[in-house]
Amino acid sequence: MANKNLHLPAIRGQYKYNEPMKNYTWLNVGGPAEVMFFPQDIKDLQKFMREKPQDTDVFVLGGGSNLLVRDQGIHGVVIKMSGPEFSRCVVEDGFLCCDAGMKNFNLKDVLLKNQIGGLEFLCSIPGSIGGAVKGNAGCFGSSMSDVTDRVSVMDGAGNIFTVSSDQLGFDYRQSHFPSDWIILKVWLKYEKSTVADIQNKIDAQRQYRLDHQPQGIRTAGSTFKNPQGFRAWELIQKSGVAQLKVGGAKMSDKHCNFIENDGTASAAEIESLCDQIIWTVKEKTGVCLEWEIQRIGEGKDN
Ligand SMILES: Cc1cc2nc3c(=O)[nH]c(=O)nc-3n(C[C@H](O)[C@H](O)[C@H](O)COP(=O)(O)OP(=O)(O)OC[C@H]3O[C@@H](n4cnc5c(N)ncnc54)[C@H](O)[C@@H]3O)c2cc1C
Repeated sequence: MANKNLHLPAIRGQYKYNEPMKNYTWLNVGGPAEVMFFPQDIKDLQKFMREKPQDTDVFVLGGGSNLLVRDQGIHGVVIKMSGPEFSRCVVEDGFLCCDAGMKNFNLKDVLLKNQIGGLEFLCSIPGSIGGAVKGNAGCFGSSMSDVTDRVSVMDGAGNIFTVSSDQLGFDYRQSHFPSDWIILKVWLKYEKSTVADIQNKIDAQRQYRLDHQPQGIRTAGSTFKNPQGFRAWELIQKSGVAQLKVGGAKMSDKHCNFIENDGTASAAEIESLCDQIIWTVKEKTGVCLEWEIQRIGEGKDN
């Protein structure tokens, strides 16, 4: 699938061709990315964006925790901002300024060290800060829209600028901003707290997940959004499809809105199981479930 004649610019980072996306997604499925680009730093990313052929398809990958990549893979270039230049986090003028590639899990140490409260919820959400902004990630009563002050963005032409939170079009588990924007940095609002309070909150939230959500298994969090006035898991249970299986894909016994891959499922099997659930829930309850997991790449429907 890889086309090494894409005429991509010379960069200081790394290109990888035909890179299996299953290695970068929590669901552990997905065919190859035609090209994966690991920029060395922001300047390197900017050079790439400025010099790439205009018709190059670009997809920005975060932690891969909210993605179903289809079996035939992804055309174009998948950008992965990882490494120290994309993972810094500093207290700056009363805000916590995090690079987009930073893992949410790594926030915990920063919060404890600086006695920063109000961001504990983010420490338990898999993925990166950039992905959390894009999906307006949230849990335990807080979401990114509550804590984001502003973000630094690079557009498709390589221009870098800062926009305020209200320009991101935050909504329930989504945002609405131009599709060529790459989030580079996020300034988060916080409140002063104590080590004990922060640790207690993190521990309680961790325990809640251990008790109520599948652990140590290939999943991507909530599969469907909660429709207005309903809970997706209740609709799935009520419709009698919580036990459905397609190949190696099934809904979790612990939380039937979490899909599980037993290690053998293909993306097509996962998608097919979810489609069956959507149809049945619609037929039995009249409510149409909407995917929370983002599906990308070539396969089932194309
Ligand atoms: C076990 C488990 C539990 C979960 N619990 C929760 C939960 O409680 N609450 C919740 O909201 N979610 C939850 N999720 C889902 C997921 O963790 C979040 O949606 C997360 O914020 C996705 O971030 P990511 O970096 O993995 O993004 P990815 O999955 O890699 O990408 C998601 C989207 O973000 C875009 N994106 C990523 N980085 C950037 C960037 N720098 N600039 C522009 N766009 C970008 C991608 O292009 C893609 O469109 C859970 C997932 C798992 C596996």
